[in-house]
Amino acid sequence: MGTQPRKLPTKLINAKGTFTPVGVSRSSNEVCSAVSEALRNYFVIDELQDLASETISSFAGSEAATVTHCTASGITVSIAATMTGTNPDRIAALPDSSAMANVVVIPAGHNVNYGQSLVQAVRLSGANPVFAGDDALCTLDDLEQQISNHDSCCLLLTSSKLVQSPPIDFAGAIEIAHSYGIPAVIDAAAQDFRIRELVRTNADLVLISAQKYLASPTAGLVIGRRNLVDAVRAQENGIGRGMKATKESILGVLAAIEEREKLDILEWQSSQDRKTSYFVERANMLPGMRASVERDPTGLPFSRVVLNVSSEKATLDATTMAAQLKAGSPSIWVMDQNAGEGEIGLELVQVTKSEIETILSRLSALLL
Ligand SMILES: *Cc1c(COP(=O)(O)O)cnc(C)c1O
Repeated sequence: MGTQPRKLPTKLINAKGTFTPVGVSRSSNEVCSAVSEALRNYFVIDELQDLASETISSFAGSEAATVTHCTASGITVSIAATMTGTNPDRIAALPDSSAMANVVVIPAGHNVNYGQSLVQAVRLSGANPVFAGDDALCTLDDLEQQISNHDSCCLLLTSSKLVQSPPIDFAGAIEIAHSYGIPAVIDAAAQDFRIRELVRTNADLVLISAQKYLASPTAGLVIGRRNLVDAVRAQENGIGRGMKATKESILGVLAAIEEREKLDILEWQSSQDRKTSYFVERANMLPGMRASVERDPTGLPFSRVVLNVSSEKATLDATTMAAQLKAGSPSIWVMDQNAGEGEIGLELVQVTKSEIETILSRLSALLL
């Protein structure tokens, strides 16, 4: 019998941002070498985690830090840590949390869905989430009421463009949590550029996905107070076993942080700005297309391109355009969540110059 030809993976250009279903980000040669070297060797994992704690803490301005498999698992083990501390009996008992303070208070609008709902990551620990306020608004009074009404183990906040409700004063919310003697955790998965600012809110733990803008292998950074970080590490002998960091991810993270520390942010920012302005200028020459630049709504140091497709002048609408970009070769992935309103977004942070030319020529082939 002859061998069947195998289907090759789809070639794609990712202009959708740090999107998990297409592999999130691309790592540098330095990060790839660190990973490759890690895979060839043995290490005492506790020593790697101690080293990671030092390196990440000096990057973030925190007391301590640890690496988990990703941010979704980082949420689960961080919540677990707020219920158990380092008590081995409690750690072994999870996800049965009936003998512990186990209510997690979350502003209703912060229950984002990043492919999984945030509350599911909370429930996996055995904790019980409750919401404060509603999707339209959560005041500090709403938060205080929920914290004081329950046997709470922590306050959980989200810092993300996925949050649709009006911004909450994080430092104020955290002060309330502390006045009731409970810690505050921030899910800030894509916010590595703002890590120092988030740590300065006095949060007890801040969670970052290292595979997003830091472009390391998949890993969650759990950053904050030493006693809670120790309690997160202790979950590895409990529910955290299936959520552990690998040696190659820890060493990849260290290489990625070393690179970020060398990065001249202002220089990087202006090269990003040049890419988006070039794209916008070229896209504005296409019929039925109005292109503009939109700053990241959460304060990340870059902009995205927004294309408004006018259904009268253009030969096709935004939804069809996004679908045809994806169906072609290479498959081009764009932000299409507002395509129904005639809008397509493109994040060019990790898109190369030649990929930009490919996207522009595919757009013009579709429109001209
Ligand atoms: C991406 C993301 C996550 C999940 O991060 P992983 O590292 O992929 O598990 C959680 N929360 C928010 C806000 C995210 O953007």
